[in-house]
Amino acid sequence: MINRLAIIGIGLIGGSLARALRRAGFAKEIIGFGRNLGNLKLAVELGVIDHAEVKIEAAVQDADMILIAAPVGAMAEVFSRLAGKMTSETIITDVGSVKTEVIRVARDALSTEEFIRFVPGHPVAGTEQSGVAASREDLFHEHQVILTPEPDTRRDAVEKVRAMWQAAGAEVRFLNAEKHDAVLAASSHFPHVLAYALVDMLVRRDDHHDIFDFAAGGFRDFTRIAGSDPTMWRDICVANREPLMALLGDYRKNLGDIMKAIEQGDAQWLMDTFERARHARETYVKPPPTDSPDSTE
Ligand code: NAP
Repeated sequence: MINRLAIIGIGLIGGSLARALRRAGFAKEIIGFGRNLGNLKLAVELGVIDHAEVKIEAAVQDADMILIAAPVGAMAEVFSRLAGKMTSETIITDVGSVKTEVIRVARDALSTEEFIRFVPGHPVAGTEQSGVAASREDLFHEHQVILTPEPDTRRDAVEKVRAMWQAAGAEVRFLNAEKHDAVLAASSHFPHVLAYALVDMLVRRDDHHDIFDFAAGGFRDFTRIAGSDPTMWRDICVANREPLMALLGDYRKNLGDIMKAIEQGDAQWLMDTFERARHARETYVKPPPTDSPDSTE
């Protein structure tokens, strides 16, 4: 049970966690910090938060838990504004989609005493929409949340963050931060780059009206995630550039092989490749959890 939860960034993820914890009766009071007054006003009107604050010091005063739900590129500034403003027992956690970079900026900004109360986290759930209007109380239901504590992270802090996510209906898993970033680069960051690149390439063609006019379900499925927030994905690409660049390099090589097979009319090579891919998809790709939106992550 949390007495005072301060959420930095009341958007899709921050708002959805606030809603889920409210439904579970897990947080007595929820304070939201943001810069956009319209979004904050809406968060209060929708009953997502109890109070809104535009000063971060006021938002986190006496909070026993702080959740940072701002874009990854804003985290360094947020941590430096939090440093020295929290009680000696305040637990801090985040939802950023990249972990090593967030941990690095947190270590830089916080004192050692503060840093050991920081539990890095990432809910593997979301939609292409953003802002508090898109938040929903079931967003994390039956979805995984990955926590990536450091060797010096306090165990009691980890347990409290784990209990918070479980109260929101999530399944909590643990990974180290490097492993997290390598795996998520492949399963999430890389497909987003491909979807953005495909739509951007096609829209720059003279016949793009015809292409989009005749596009059907397959195109919609493949490009759905290109409807995601550009700020969030720009920040993720910059923060997780090393694993992402390695994947893009491999992909370029694979595309070269596929181009060669198509050019040479190598039907057997194409058949073997497509069969292998179809079998892998059928074996490994799970359907979305029931009654919750299909995740973009
Ligand atoms: P969102 O709906 O756009 O919400 C982000 C919030 O952060 C906004 O309410 C914004 O409020 C605030 N914000 C933006 N810049 C800020 C800054 N410089 N300082 C303080 N607050 C700032 O985005 P989201 O989808 O909830 O994503 C938030 C975080 O969750 C990101 O780190 C993302 O990597 C992670 N995440 C997203 C998903 C997903 O699928 N969407 C899934 C898992 C994790 P103001 O403009 O009012 O300041």
